[in-house]
Amino acid sequence: MVNLTDEQLAIKGMVADFAKRELADGAFKPESEDDYRRRLRKLAAQGLLGMTAPVEHGGGGLSYADALVAVEEMARHDPRSANEMHTNGTGTASHLWVLGTPEQQERWLRPICEGRLRCAIAMTEPEAGSAATEMTTTATVTEDGQAYCLNGSKIFISGGKHADVFITYARFGAPPFEDGGRSIGALVVEKDTPGFSILRNDHNMADEDQAQLLFDNSRVPKFNVLVTGNAFGRLIRIYNRNRLS
Ligand SMILES: Cc1cc2nc3c(=O)[nH]c(=O)nc-3n(C[C@H](O)[C@H](O)[C@H](O)COP(=O)(O)OP(=O)(O)OC[C@H]3O[C@@H](n4cnc5c(N)ncnc54)[C@H](O)[C@@H]3O)c2cc1C
Repeated sequence: MVNLTDEQLAIKGMVADFAKRELADGAFKPESEDDYRRRLRKLAAQGLLGMTAPVEHGGGGLSYADALVAVEEMARHDPRSANEMHTNGTGTASHLWVLGTPEQQERWLRPICEGRLRCAIAMTEPEAGSAATEMTTTATVTEDGQAYCLNGSKIFISGGKHADVFITYARFGAPPFEDGGRSIGALVVEKDTPGFSILRNDHNMADEDQAQLLFDNSRVPKFNVLVTGNAFGRLIRIYNRNRLS
């Protein structure tokens, strides 16, 4: 059994009061996109998105243990919101404060913490699940040198239905691409990127939405690159923060 600190007990109490008052009634009802966006802003106003993000980027600066207490308590009342708290603001967004430039953090991380943007992570592919280093999505520099051309597909992308930005893992370089993890890097794909589409949205047994994505010569500005390779170990450690709960 874990003994919670006084601060953790206060977090737990705050989340319980807020969830019962604002969220529990609608927790298992269908919601429109507008309802979803309203709920996201409510969570942000309560400081429940970006809980572990640095304070200077609009986050809460909490430890993962503190965030886990908050997520667990929220899950008792509104599992959907618990999911937002850990996959969006705490897990996926952490790519941005670990790997992002100050300009990237200002463009995406602060809006995520403020509930104005939703982010998702796109690593898994139809033929690359547990063996993530078998991924075949590629990012090659465009002829004008200003962007990356992204080709490939991703599946099981949690939160993809609502996401505004997708932190996407891909193999950087030129054909023939190097196998294994060394050529794998990550970039941020905004949902209105030319050549990017959501092929379908499914619901898993926990009623979480999971999207299938297609990148068909998607042109992604160089500004959006987080890392171009030699970082797979770091990326997987960040990815695993999604598994907070
Ligand atoms: C709830 C949920 C949310 C998810 N959200 C995201 C997301 O947001 N973004 C994202 O990119 N991905 C996401 N995923 C995908 C997840 O990362 C993959 O499901 C995971 O990597 C496993 O891949 P797979 O499903 O293809 O299973 P497989 O790799 O096909 O594995 C199937 C089974 O075979 C076993 N197995 C595999 N290889 C071996 C081996 N060599 N030896 C022995 N056993 C083996 C595995 O342990 C497993 O039991 C999500 C998955 C779930 C369930």
